[in-house]
Amino acid sequence: MRKVFVVFLALILVAGAGVAQHSRAFDPSITVDTWPYKYSMAFTVTCDDVSSGYPLEYLQEIHALLTSYHVKATFFVIPYHGEWDLITESPQLIQELHELMREGHEIGLHGYAHYQNEFVCDPESQRDLLNKALDIMDEAGITVRGFRAPCLRCTEETTFILKEYGFVYDSSMFGESGEPVSDGPLPRLPSGHEYTWYLSQEEYNEKLSLAQSEAEEKYRERTVFSVVMHMKAVNEGEGIDLLNELLSFVTARDVWSCTLLELVEWEEAIHSVRWDSKKTLTGGEITFYNVPEGLSLTIVLPSYYAPDFLSDDIAMTCNTDDDTCEVVVCFEKSFDEVALPFTFG
Ligand SMILES: [Zn+2]
Repeated sequence: MRKVFVVFLALILVAGAGVAQHSRAFDPSITVDTWPYKYSMAFTVTCDDVSSGYPLEYLQEIHALLTSYHVKATFFVIPYHGEWDLITESPQLIQELHELMREGHEIGLHGYAHYQNEFVCDPESQRDLLNKALDIMDEAGITVRGFRAPCLRCTEETTFILKEYGFVYDSSMFGESGEPVSDGPLPRLPSGHEYTWYLSQEEYNEKLSLAQSEAEEKYRERTVFSVVMHMKAVNEGEGIDLLNELLSFVTARDVWSCTLLELVEWEEAIHSVRWDSKKTLTGGEITFYNVPEGLSLTIVLPSYYAPDFLSDDIAMTCNTDDDTCEVVVCFEKSFDEVALPFTFG
């Protein structure tokens, strides 16, 4: 008899809670962070003119510096520099490039022979250059997904041709006379400023302070800070020292160091994140779809909804002025679909 009474009482309580919560909407407000893992800024470093015509030690010097700051970079390689220096004739360079890739750096394509404005030509000639360049990269065992034309110059057709060849982004910005080229079917990524071009002692302080101001500005805007260097031009002069100070300055903050390819993939991934929310018997539930690893977001709900999934990685703050609570979630792995339950309390 007593057991029956307890069950009956429990049913009344559940029904009561159900009726009370029925009148309250479950209408969460959700904001997705721009960068993964709640980082405030993305940071890209690119290195152009990687060629077997320059001393290998130059590339190793850049590599060692990046490693000491755990910074990733994209290296744009010239397969057959001047139709004289062929990368596949330098096994040590190939080995170095493979080591860079193993460590998470990216190798991109920087033309074929790097003649001036090499890709400012008719579409058939561009295809011919790509065929020859990609054959060499294949022989080197390197798959490239990103492209930057020599002198950053290309034509309106270039991105269409690159897409045919399986490239996923272009980092050439200008047409023949330096005018910006219009957007094609691939994302176009700017190279960023170069502060390290055969840098002299006299220019050092001014360039460093310009670079640091730009980094601070991009950090405030929570956008992307991109810098470019050239193999040889960064090594001969004070460029490496400046890069050292700049990397130290930038990595002291919460920045996401990524390759250009990772940047493109991330932007694509967050654009395909979807969610829907529904009321449940005990509260509400938000289901997220296509969640990439590192996605962080903020959910705002009335304070009478409590998250049922709180852990050390999830922060919740409540605002007594408007009776809302803010839950910050960061997904440590990717999910095709994941549901977050909230309890009505
Ligand atoms: Zn170049």
